Amino acid sequence: QAKGLGRNTLCYFDPDMQASVSANAAVGAALRVGLREKQFVVHYQPQVDRQGAITGVEALVRWQHPEKGLVKPADFIPVAEDTGLILPLGMWVLETACEQLAAWASREQTAHLSIAVNVSVYQFRHPNFVDMVMAAIQRTGIRPHRLKLELTESLLADRMEITIQKMGMLKELGVTLSLDDFGVGYSSLSCLKRLPLDQLKIDKGFVADVLTDPNDAAISRAIIALAQSLSLQVVAEGVETQEARDFLAYLGCDQFQGHLFAPALPIETLDAFLRNPSPDMMPMVVG
Ligand code: C2E
Ligand code: MG
Ligand code: MG
Ligand code: MG
Repeated sequence: QAKGLGRNTLCYFDPDMQASVSANAAVGAALRVGLREKQFVVHYQPQVDRQGAITGVEALVRWQHPEKGLVKPADFIPVAEDTGLILPLGMWVLETACEQLAAWASREQTAHLSIAVNVSVYQFRHPNFVDMVMAAIQRTGIRPHRLKLELTESLLADRMEITIQKMGMLKELGVTLSLDDFGVGYSSLSCLKRLPLDQLKIDKGFVADVLTDPNDAAISRAIIALAQSLSLQVVAEGVETQEARDFLAYLGCDQFQGHLFAPALPIETLDAFLRNPSPDMMPMVVG
């Protein structure tokens, strides 16, 4: 029966569901406090090229909760999306990333790095999204192509015309556009070629077993071939072993991100490494 009810109607027939509704309400209230009290932090996960040099990082938000400790995005991003709090949270991540890019721009060793920021559909659809991105770029004075926006395939489920138009406006600002978690959604190949994208990211779900599961290998191979034929860069996320990295490189993958190189790191750890790369700090080659 629950399905027939409206989105905002509480369902009193399923105690589990009701429990999760009130749990989400509690998380929503705590998120609001967290935003006000500045409990969020951005960690940065390196991305490396085929030579092993760091080309940039992905910004991944964490919630430094006073009692629960460091909370992962899976436990609060969905609630932030349902409550609309993803707008202020997402803007804060974007602003933080732009400030970091500005700080890196002043040093030769870090001036070339990019930062990828995840953008929820809800944020992208906001009428002022392009203006807010432009304001962040102007305020921090960064070179726009160093900022990479990671969009997801769910954007492509409907309203294609307006999505393409908005992506075009973002490209006019000069930012780089990436399609995250590629392969798990439903984007048709014909719609993909109409998008002003720069990059595809192979979802880590295909990367995890790429050496042992022939289906995952076939899908990864197809995504890389597709990206190459559309002149898009391709990044594999969730790369955990040297063997997987080598196989993906053999298939033609341009960049790699995963625990083989480094997990998402607090900015102090990352900055220390970028300043003084020592081989035992992270198992990563710096070219
Ligand atoms: P994503 O954008 O696909 O990010 C990649 C996720 O894979 C991250 O999880 C990262 O820590 C994890 N990962 C990277 N390498 C490995 C690996 O080798 N092995 C394994 N097992 N995992 C790896 P995380 O940080 O928990 O983030 C989960 C998701 O939350 C992200 O997936 C993204 O969709 C969302 N997210 C994170 N930060 C933000 C944000 O600021 N805004 C929005 N809207 N979403 C965010
Ligand atoms: Mg991402
Ligand atoms: Mg991803
Ligand atoms: Mg993912």
